[in-house]
This record gives sequence, structure tokens and C-alpha cells, in this order.
Amino acid sequence: PNTGPASGLETAARAAFERARDDQSGELATYIPELARVVPDRFGIALAGVDGHVLGVGDVEVPFTIQSISKALAYCIALEALGRDKVLAHVGVEPSGDAFNAIVFDALSNRPFNPMVNAGAITVSGLLAEAFGAEAFDVVLDRFSAAAGRRLVMDETVFRSEAQTGHRNRGIAHLLKCAGALGADVDDAVDLYFRQCSILVTATDLAVMGATLANIGENPLTGSAVFAVEAVRNTLSVMFTCGMYDFAGNWAFDVGVPAKSGVGGGILGVVNRQLGIGTYSPRLDAKGNSVRGIAAFRDLTEEMGLHVFDPT
Ligand code: GLN
Repeated sequence: PNTGPASGLETAARAAFERARDDQSGELATYIPELARVVPDRFGIALAGVDGHVLGVGDVEVPFTIQSISKALAYCIALEALGRDKVLAHVGVEPSGDAFNAIVFDALSNRPFNPMVNAGAITVSGLLAEAFGAEAFDVVLDRFSAAAGRRLVMDETVFRSEAQTGHRNRGIAHLLKCAGALGADVDDAVDLYFRQCSILVTATDLAVMGATLANIGENPLTGSAVFAVEAVRNTLSVMFTCGMYDFAGNWAFDVGVPAKSGVGGGILGVVNRQLGIGTYSPRLDAKGNSVRGIAAFRDLTEEMGLHVFDPT
């Protein structure tokens, strides 16, 4: 990647990094041993512009599992592959205000509230599993890789742990099946979901993926067309309203960019038509969002006027 000359952004990223760096609050995810074992102090902030410039501060090349950030990209793939109406028939676009792993569906439609919480994401994985059969994971991995601009791999050990311990997600999948929201076989849907969550990325990858979305679907580093414009628009809308679980309202208010977090410690943010932002810091707050990641986003967007409703 190009590393541009020191810019306002680089200065702002460095300042945000320094301000947040000593904050040791929050806890690692511990539901599987692999996440409980990561080095808690890792911290990185990466930025990728739609002009192809990439810059990073701190641990921007440390791999971690993408976890729930996969939900946004998988949704984008499903929208494109199956069309908006088919996807909407299975998963809503309404913020739930509930935790990411809540066992709750929209009572009126019997659909999961949105694709950014587990119930909705498992439904989306089910749609992809049905549409692509045995190839589904390869399709997902290829598109994630194209968005990141490099070949990504899955962490097999994390995948096995997710699959072995994922009783709650399996339970959600069975309830979805019972409610008629999930067309696919329960095992196929959760298998794909656990696999996509176990893909390894770095903060730089998240920034480039974000830049691909910011650049309406074309990866600005490789020039390859990764996602269709319409699917990107719909995905960013849902990221804006639902991407940070039950913190989404606060996030939209304070930070004001579409984003998605994961319990691996990553956050991917999109400054539309300008920039992708990727952060990594594995200590999480009570809602499962990265503590220093949130701090860095708040700082950066404030300093650079990146909130979608900033006047400049
Ligand atoms: N694999 C995790 C789960 O399904 C992902 C959750 C997350 O990142 N919030 O519980």
C-alpha cells in the first residue's frame, strides 16, 4: 500500500492513539479460549482513503478474528446475490436496542430485527448457504478478500471453538427455523456463520474494506469492483442504525459514521466517499464493543469533522 505524506489525518490518528493508549478498561471476550488468550494491550488505528492512501498507527498488522464485522459484509453479499426484496423478506432493517446475542424477533413479522445482530446474521448466512451450497464459504472468503485487497484466511482453531461452544447461536437458529425466517438447514446456516466470524483480519484490512464501501464498492487499492452500488448503500444504512448493537444510537449521535464492531476487538467505519477506518483493541465494554476503538473513532471524527452531519 501507498503510505501518503504526513497529513492532517495522520496527525489526528496519532493524537487519538496517544490519548486512548493507556486506557486499560474493559475485558477480553472469554467465551472461547482463543479470544481470552490474546494480548490485551494491542492497539492499532488504520485509515484508507478512496484515493488509495493507507496509513496506520500502532498494531495495525496484528491479525485477529473479524467476528461480527463479518455480518455487514455478508449482508452486502446477500443483497447483491439474492436481491433486496428476498433478503428483506427474511431479515428486517430495524434497530432492536437489544444485545447482539438477544433471543428476540420482530413479533409482527416473525423476522429478526436486523442483520447486524446474531439472529439476523445467522439468517443471512442461511440465505447464502442456500444460494451457494457447498461453495458458500468460498464465496464469502473471496469477497472479503477482494474487499481487503489481499488473500484472507480463516482461523481453524477459532472456528472449531465457535462451533463447539455456540449453543446459544444454534438455539437462535432453531428458533429462526421454527419462526419460518430461516430457510436453510440449521447446521448449514450456523456453520457458515461460525466460519465467517473466524476469518482473520488486521486493522489495515478493516480500513481497506471500509474504503471499498466508502468508494461505493470498488477497492481503491486494487481497482477491482467488489460490491454493487445498491447493495453498498443498503448495507451502510443498516450499519449506521444497527452496527454497534445496543450502542448504535449513541454511536450515530457522537461518532456519526456507519460502522460495525466485533468481539474480536475490531471496528470498521466508513466515511462515505472519503475513507475507511479500522481499529483494533481487544478489551471490550459491557456491550461487546472495543473500548479504545470507540475512543479512537470519537476522537478522530471530532477532530477531522467526519460525522455525517458535520457542516463541512
Ligand atoms: N462469534 C460471535 C458470536 O456469534 C460473534 C459475536 C460478536 O462479534 N459480537 O457470538
